[in-house]
Amino acid sequence: MKKTTGMDRAATRNWRAATRAVRGGTWRSEHGETSEALFLSSGYTYDDAATVAARFAGEAEGMTYSRLQNPTVAMLEERIALMEGAEACRVQASGMAAMTAALLCQLSVGDHCVAAKAAFGSCRWLVDQLLPRFGIETTVIDAADNAQWDAAIRPNTKVFFFETPANPTLDVVDLEYVCNLAKAHGIVTVVDNAFATSALQRPLDFGADVVAYSATKLMDGQGRVLAGAVCGSGEFINDVLLPFQRNTGPNLSPFNAWVVLKGLETLSLRADKQSENALELGRFLETRVPRMLHPGLPSHPRHDLAMKQMSAAGPIFAFDVESREKAFAILDALQLIDISNNIGDARSLMCHPASSTHANMGEEARVDMGVTQGLLRINVGLEDPQDLIEDLDQALKSAGF
Ligand SMILES: *Cc1c(COP(=O)(O)O)cnc(C)c1O
Repeated sequence: MKKTTGMDRAATRNWRAATRAVRGGTWRSEHGETSEALFLSSGYTYDDAATVAARFAGEAEGMTYSRLQNPTVAMLEERIALMEGAEACRVQASGMAAMTAALLCQLSVGDHCVAAKAAFGSCRWLVDQLLPRFGIETTVIDAADNAQWDAAIRPNTKVFFFETPANPTLDVVDLEYVCNLAKAHGIVTVVDNAFATSALQRPLDFGADVVAYSATKLMDGQGRVLAGAVCGSGEFINDVLLPFQRNTGPNLSPFNAWVVLKGLETLSLRADKQSENALELGRFLETRVPRMLHPGLPSHPRHDLAMKQMSAAGPIFAFDVESREKAFAILDALQLIDISNNIGDARSLMCHPASSTHANMGEEARVDMGVTQGLLRINVGLEDPQDLIEDLDQALKSAGF
């Protein structure tokens, strides 16, 4: 294998965003392929025994086993790191594998984690169920209230964990405030950036320490594979995350890594266009439904902050239609938009979070985080927005709106 400039940080450091998305991390074999090669190999062979020893001792570069390194996976990791503005990145088998690794690799019994209460259902399960089982204390707060972050800090607080915008209530966290507060107290911020991706928001630019992803969503962008990623400093990734990941094995398959690599090439085009379409649908819906949760609209309580942190508001938003019956009636009347709990896809998808993505939480916690029975979440795709508006219009009418 011959390294080309895509893997050479000195050469790629000054590339602009679009160039990084298409060429970052490209690592060509002796065949000179244009598209990244797919290395479906679990192991590697060596010319001699001394090479094995040197590689395992970390004294020589080279692959040893695909739980530890794989060329296709390494290309994806380098591309994501470059796009995120991070020193390093490691990818995992799913977004939840990434979140679990990002938290468990650094938290121990006796530590305390402060987390946003508005979060993806499984992220809340980690905070509410998993961490306490290992003696890690957790506190959930209203993350859109800066003062609650200050108030939650204890001497043993080690990690702040939150999404912005959050799934599915679109709560926006003040990245600069919360990351600076964390820094002043030696706390590590872990930001789940799935709703935005580096195309729309780069938390490291606001002082975050770790950015964790479901790459299943906008990064793949075409609803094909599960994937996750964790980005941060070289020290965090190599000394804290990597020992955990290499020994517990939540690895991403080379095939899925290759699919996500292809997705990244068009990420910013899709993120921008889907954001534009979502704004158009949001403006239409705002005239028809009782409550909108869309950070791109001035009616959102943190619209100005969202627009300071993000280049566009993203493809996902939510709205409330008062009851589960009305929400189901709208979903059932859709003819073009699919009923699906996935997001980030190029197709428009709609779901009822209370009975799907957030069904595993108790009703009390769900209501407390704003996931009401009338809440619907939509991922706006790349279809013509006029077709989507017509579909929503007939679905709303049939449900009495
Ligand atoms: C989907 C999602 C996850 C989980 O990702 P998977 O790839 O489904 O495991 C985590 N956080 C957020 C905000 C998500 O939307």
